[in-house]
Amino acid sequence: MIYNFSAGPAVLPKEVLQQAAAEMLDWHGSGMSVMEMSHRGPEFSVILAEALADLRELLAVPESYEILFMQGGAIAENALVPLNLAGLSSTGQPATFDYVCTGSWSLKSIKEAGRYGHAHVAADMLATAGDQQSAAIPDRAAWQLSQEAVYVHICANETIDGIEYQNAPEVTAPLVADMSSSLLSRVINVADYGVIYAGAQKNIGPAGLTIVIVRKDLLGYALPHCPSAFNWQTVASHGSMYNTPPTYAIYIAGLVFKWLKRRGGVAVMEQVNIAKAKLLYDYLDASTLFENRVRPDCRSRMNIPFFLRDEALNQPFLKAAGDHGLLQLKGHSSVGGMRASVYNAMPIEGVQALVSFMQEFELLSGLS
Ligand SMILES: *Cc1c(COP(=O)(O)O)cnc(C)c1O
Repeated sequence: MIYNFSAGPAVLPKEVLQQAAAEMLDWHGSGMSVMEMSHRGPEFSVILAEALADLRELLAVPESYEILFMQGGAIAENALVPLNLAGLSSTGQPATFDYVCTGSWSLKSIKEAGRYGHAHVAADMLATAGDQQSAAIPDRAAWQLSQEAVYVHICANETIDGIEYQNAPEVTAPLVADMSSSLLSRVINVADYGVIYAGAQKNIGPAGLTIVIVRKDLLGYALPHCPSAFNWQTVASHGSMYNTPPTYAIYIAGLVFKWLKRRGGVAVMEQVNIAKAKLLYDYLDASTLFENRVRPDCRSRMNIPFFLRDEALNQPFLKAAGDHGLLQLKGHSSVGGMRASVYNAMPIEGVQALVSFMQEFELLSGLS
């Protein structure tokens, strides 16, 4: 048995891959693979419409929001957020954007936004985290938000650092959230946000699809030089078909949405995700060999970084894990250590197998 703990592109539900394999050469008797179809033909129109409707249902997205299927990933959206919203500024250009820095991905968003206006860091975990042993989201009360900011940006789940908001913070300006590694892993209230964006390849589907959920009253404020194919209003008015969408990635994401619905939806999935994360964190907190360095109330359910207190054991650990079929546990190069990504498609059996292996490894390392 193989369990793949990759942070992204990541594990997909086996049933989805089996169905895609069965339909690979001939989708529903059409005689064509989805990859070969016109994106404007009747077959793909059904695939797209169902994917949009299923995603809207799964997240209970209100009618006052558009769902866009785009390309370019979250890194492109880091630029497209300011490019599409800067026109909201009442003080003229350059506009001011508020950012909360909670780790590697929000830092990247800040640097990109600074190219299109004034990216103000309202709170910075990296600056205030004196105690490296317990990283945490800066207290909401300490955020220095700007009066004139057109939006407040957060990274809902820091995929590399393993830090996750448990609730949407209350702010006055529209809240913009990068949910690349947490969308559909937990129940959210979409109405708390102005914009939600996510690359699909962590928790949803293949790389190539980018999801943007945007409140309709925020459309129409793009800077004049925003490329048409990346102008949210243009994409919305063309039903995500202004340019050729990533058809196969949308098809697979659509199968994942149906898989989620069969499993009982996001609320049921959230309970499984809580149980999976608890299993691993409880073990880490009790261990004398391994440790997690995030304050418990800010810990990610999707990406769980951990360190071996004896760094010399890193390589032997990864080797032994691989021998047990536990793959891609090496942490991101910028933080080192290990990381287990336990997205929706990771069954609880995978986390049980990981914890049993770690217990065994800890026991053996104590004997030598
Ligand atoms: C992976 C990831 C990104 C980068 O996504 P791309 O698809 O490579 O652009 C950005 N933000 C978060 C939170 C991520 O997990």
